[in-house]
Amino acid sequence: MNPKEEGRVVFGWDLCKECNYRCPYCGVWKEARPAAPVPPELWGQVWDRMAERCGSCHIYVSGGEPSVYTGFAELMVRLVRRHTIEICTNLSWDVEPLIAAIPPERMRIAPTFHPSFADFEAFLRKAVRVKDYLPDGQVYYVAHPGQIGEMPERSRRLQERGVSLIPLPLRGDGYVLNSEEEKRIVADLSPYRGDKIKYQLQELSPKGRLCRAGQRYAVIRVDGRVDRCSQYQTGEVGSILDEDFRLFPEPRACGRDYCPIESQWIVEIDGARGKC
Ligand code: SF4
Repeated sequence: MNPKEEGRVVFGWDLCKECNYRCPYCGVWKEARPAAPVPPELWGQVWDRMAERCGSCHIYVSGGEPSVYTGFAELMVRLVRRHTIEICTNLSWDVEPLIAAIPPERMRIAPTFHPSFADFEAFLRKAVRVKDYLPDGQVYYVAHPGQIGEMPERSRRLQERGVSLIPLPLRGDGYVLNSEEEKRIVADLSPYRGDKIKYQLQELSPKGRLCRAGQRYAVIRVDGRVDRCSQYQTGEVGSILDEDFRLFPEPRACGRDYCPIESQWIVEIDGARGKC
């Protein structure tokens, strides 16, 4: 599975807003749900249509916690017939049926450890259990002031078992909220170097840079609206439920000041286009 393969289209997908955790640094579980959630059968048809139009896509399935969506496992099994998936999850669910049904070549599991609700030893055991499915052997951890102190030791414990911890800077209202000292800890533990970590820690602004978000990559919201990336909530790419849905034909300039997650889509040198 190589989501970065030339020409491959990549989507982030907020499958639901529901979550079984109530982490203090996440507001998604508090947000209003759509009155009529998109049912699994309709999502299945949408992804079949996207396969016809764009070929095999790589889909980051997120939420909320996607595993609480009714019909989640069956929908994932349907998706991997034509696409590859990466499930962004708190890993609180029973992964055994899904890993029995889908090989690592078709599915990745990208877990985040949330200390307010999860026991570290139980998370560690589960992360090791799904190690073949972890993207680059990585798990994630939010650098919240209340839990950053334990991060270096937890990183060491995971590393002993062959798993890398990726710190995620704490964000709010479009800014990094970490102190300079916390940012230093994040930079020390992060495997990212160069521009990637500078964008993540808001030391570089993407504003005005040409970006393929919206062209080769986009984020689908729970009601089907499509945004360029996680920093946009304008629905300007359209709705994926629309049979005529199309991604942008060209890269466009970024209008945001901060690019915490998806800076790999910024056009650096070439302007390679997707198939859509
Ligand atoms: S540079 Fe970052 S914030 Fe701007 S459009 Fe691209 S992915 Fe989004």
